[in-house]
Amino acid sequence: MNSTMEKTFYFIDNHTTKIQQEQENAYLESLLTTTENWLDGLIKPEAGASKEDIRKALQLAVLKGMKEHVQPHHQMTPDALGLLVGYLVELFVKKEQAVILDPAVGTGNLLLTVMNYLDGRLTGAGVELDDLLIRLASNAGNLIEQPITFYLQDALQPLLIDPVDVVVSDLPVGYYPDEETAGTYELKADEGMSFAHHLFIEQSLKHTAEGGYLFFIVPKALFESAQASQLHSFLKKHAHIQSVMELPESLFKNSAHAKGILVLQKKQEGVKAPKEVLLARVPNMSKPESMSKFFSQVTGWFKENKE
Ligand code: SAM
Repeated sequence: MNSTMEKTFYFIDNHTTKIQQEQENAYLESLLTTTENWLDGLIKPEAGASKEDIRKALQLAVLKGMKEHVQPHHQMTPDALGLLVGYLVELFVKKEQAVILDPAVGTGNLLLTVMNYLDGRLTGAGVELDDLLIRLASNAGNLIEQPITFYLQDALQPLLIDPVDVVVSDLPVGYYPDEETAGTYELKADEGMSFAHHLFIEQSLKHTAEGGYLFFIVPKALFESAQASQLHSFLKKHAHIQSVMELPESLFKNSAHAKGILVLQKKQEGVKAPKEVLLARVPNMSKPESMSKFFSQVTGWFKENKE
């Protein structure tokens, strides 16, 4: 007996494959048509799928499409990581209703995982450069019924977004080619091209309300690059670093792409820095015992430093 999630995936995959054969286009393009037809009521899966069933089924279909066209810069955020970020957002953010932004929303998987995790408490905004990905993300948001406004643009250009309570983002890593725009940032490189991931951190802080929290998936070597000291002084000025977590290398195909999680709080009068920054190593997520030790480390730190 197949699960509802599997049935929903087969429903999506069968329609997408049929459209792909008829129109001879890429799987992801056909997937977009499938989601449009589904939203228009032209096709309908079996009843009973939850928001998480739909998100996971769409995620599997996107992964299938991405295998066909390797898009190294558009890697979807893995589920395990999305759930961990969801757990952290729930722990830190105490507001009953909050606004959340992902300035590099991609397929929407990370943002939707977090929004489903805190279902009913978040209203979202997502920014993305890639036209196909943002259309997929927008259709996924509508099918899953999460309230998200999407902006198709370069997130490092001025954004017409009011300050948000929370930012989550799996940051694009590398150099940012638009040197003129980079020149408007405090974190521009003194010489040569600036790091996009540094500029994303600055832009995100700019669009966060005072006291708001930011959860970034960052390269593991964030604080070891040539521009790290500049990033450090910038963060000291504008934010309180809450936590730096190292993610298990097994999550990434190539250990050179290993990542971590950086948690920040934007400064606000009366809000103090934690007594100590939570430095943690996330264990292999398939080992429940190690994970439960990790969660008690995090909650212990939270009680000592945030309550
Ligand atoms: N969390 C996303 C998901 O679950 O699909 C994946 C994010 S992926 C690691 C980074 C995304 O940033 C890519 O989709 C890429 O197209 C986007 N991106 C890169 N530079 C950008 C820019 N300047 N403005 C907006 N989006 C950008």
